[in-house]
This record gives sequence, structure tokens and C-alpha cells, in this order.
Amino acid sequence: MEVEVKLRLPDSATHQKLSDLLKPFHSTTHLQENVFFDGGGAELSSKLAVLRVRFYNSDSRCVVCLKAKAVLVCGVSRVEEDEEDIDPAIGRACVAEPCRLGSVDSSRILRRVREEFRVADNSFVCLGGFGNVRSVYDWKGLKLELDETQYAFGTYYEIECESADPESVKKLLEGFLSDNGITYSYSEVFKFTIFRSGKLP
Ligand code: MN
Ligand code: MN
Ligand code: MN
Repeated sequence: MEVEVKLRLPDSATHQKLSDLLKPFHSTTHLQENVFFDGGGAELSSKLAVLRVRFYNSDSRCVVCLKAKAVLVCGVSRVEEDEEDIDPAIGRACVAEPCRLGSVDSSRILRRVREEFRVADNSFVCLGGFGNVRSVYDWKGLKLELDETQYAFGTYYEIECESADPESVKKLLEGFLSDNGITYSYSEVFKFTIFRSGKLP
């Protein structure tokens, strides 16, 4: 189970202000390219599951991720998540020809998708995707992830923090943002949901 605090920032100026504020705590920034897949019969989406292939900094890393039963309440998300690194070259081949997802035997997650969700080997379809600039900060013993998500229809700004104690983290983060005049709201939808809806919330 992945538990995250997710707070939405209203605009690029606020994102910039927070990015400046967190500069002393900066650890890394990566450019993520997220591509999503389903079975041809919507075998995953009909069961509220999401299959994502994520590339980091072009092809320096590739992670397959299966998410299910996602809920987002008052800025705290809870998702069943299974993640696994795969060879970026294989990831690229699957983006180019989604049916290849059905024959990657080296991936435990892709085997799970085929077996548990009964996606036929050659029926995978690509749903498209979006880019994300993720800046990571080590702050008060927490790992903060500041996201600038680039959709074809606009840019979305969010700060996330994974924690087993989301209520405390939320309180700490909200205090920090408020003390520094950073406007925020509780994220109400997942980035993938926004992508599928085709418009910013
Ligand atoms: Mn995760
Ligand atoms: Mn997240
Ligand atoms: Mn995460």
C-alpha cells in the first residue's frame, strides 16, 4: 500500500515560490515520461487498475507500475501499488508496439497483468501519457516531491509526500506552506484521472 499526502498548487508562480523556498533541501530532479496501457477490452480500467510504464531522464531508468483500488480523501491517497524496474529498451519497444507487453516474460508485474486481469497476450493498447518534472527534496526527514505535470491541455502543480503517518505529515506540510504564504488545496483527483478527463480540474 502506498500512502501519500498530495497537495495541489494553484499555478506556476506558486510552484516557483515553493521551489525557491525548498532550494536548500534539493536532492535531485528527474524528467519522467509516463505512458499508460490497458487491455483491448478495458480489462484493467474496468477494475479500476492502472498500468504505467515510466521512463526517467530519457532512458536512464524504466519502471513498470500497477496501481489498484486508489482512493484520495482530504489530500491523502491510498493505493495498492506494485513496482518493478525493467530494461528501458524493452519499455521503449512496448511503447512503440503495445502488444509486446504480452510477451515480456522477465517482468513479474506484466505476468500478473496477463494472469490476474486476463489480458490476452497481443491485446494491449496504449492510452498515451504525459510528462512530469519531479524535484525531490530531503526536508525534515521527509522526502518531498514537487511535480510540474505537463498535459497536452495544461500544466498541473502538486507536492507529494509518501508516509506511513500521513496525518502528521499533512499537518507539518500545511503549516510550512501557510507560514510561507504558499496557497494550496487538497488534491481531489489523481494525475492519471486528470489525464483521462482531458482537462485540468
Ligand atoms: Mn510509489
Ligand atoms: Mn504519487
Ligand atoms: Mn509516489
